[in-house]
Amino acid sequence: SQTARSCAGCGVQLQSERSDLAGFLPESALLRDPVICQRCFRIRNYNEASSVAVDQDDFLRLLSSIGSTDSLVVHIVDLYDFEGSLISGLQRFVGNNPVLLVVNKIDLLPKAMNVNRLRNWVQKQAKAEGLRTVDIVLCSAKRNMGFEHVIDALERYRGDRDVYVVGATNVGKSTLINRLIRDYSDMERELTTSRYPGTTLDAVHIPLEDGKAIIDTPGIVYTTRMTEVVPRSFLGSLLPDKPIKPLVYQLNSGQSLFIGSLVRFDFVEGDRQSFTLYISNALNVHRTKLERADALYEDHRGELLGGPTREELEEIPAWTRHSLRVPRGSNKDLFISGLGWIQVNGTNGAMLDLYAPKGVKVMLRDSMI
Ligand code: GDP
Repeated sequence: SQTARSCAGCGVQLQSERSDLAGFLPESALLRDPVICQRCFRIRNYNEASSVAVDQDDFLRLLSSIGSTDSLVVHIVDLYDFEGSLISGLQRFVGNNPVLLVVNKIDLLPKAMNVNRLRNWVQKQAKAEGLRTVDIVLCSAKRNMGFEHVIDALERYRGDRDVYVVGATNVGKSTLINRLIRDYSDMERELTTSRYPGTTLDAVHIPLEDGKAIIDTPGIVYTTRMTEVVPRSFLGSLLPDKPIKPLVYQLNSGQSLFIGSLVRFDFVEGDRQSFTLYISNALNVHRTKLERADALYEDHRGELLGGPTREELEEIPAWTRHSLRVPRGSNKDLFISGLGWIQVNGTNGAMLDLYAPKGVKVMLRDSMI
């Protein structure tokens, strides 16, 4: 049997069961001496940050410790899953430290987006969530869009402080950190002068030229996101990789849409109107009559309707129904965390039902686009 050992780099307890959690090391390497976790190994040898996840309690403990530091907090969120990836209550934990909100994945939105409008929308939503930000930067870490603004903002707000980077899983935190390592850090020097990059639990330190550091914290897992509910093999269909082509459906009341076998949308009541789907274009959309929807799902889920497969659906929480009223004269999105949203384009209001796996966050919000 194995005695519990900790990583000589970051101090985290080592384990060889789950590669997506902190402290992972393949079993074969556990007995080396000194021993460092795979994450520290990769950042030391390849200058490459990788994602690890922690649960809510561990994450909150980590956040609380930021409150007693003097630092700039960079909160990275996924524009495509804004409400699902915003860390609620962040403000309480970071104390008086300034928060820079970095909104990632703007490459996913349709090309014709007005960036100023988008930024205003983000600002309003963040404020409504009680988050005070010194600034908001929109970027795509993956496609290298707006990254110079991220660096400008770091320069402007950091002063001579450390930078804590916090975010939920899958928002693109490690993609962003990898760019920072390349374009902003002093990792080269670190690698030749000191032992291991990590110093505190779970948090990897990336040295900066002035002796301060960027501290990459583990991603918090929010189980309220569709991305955390589906099998990993289905993530590729769920997470869009290219700009989303919005899908417009003209519907009469009494019609339903299935999005894969993951979600059912019923237009229960209202004038004929259009609904625009902002979802991964790899997902299958199927239109039917509301009265036929139950039977269709029974007979064709995981097959004609699209993934996940019947077997995989067994592992996903059963649907619950969300009944939502869109007020007259408002512009609303029906937001489904981790999946995308449905923009409601009527002006006379509507009654909508949305079925989604239990636990997945579903809500009406002011339209983003
Ligand atoms: P982390 O869990 O927050 O560290 O996220 P990763 O950096 O591992 O990225 C999660 C997923 O999002 C991966 O599939 C990335 O390729 C993708 N991703 C990261 N940044 C972007 C981006 O700017 N745009 C798009 N479209 N995808 C991104």
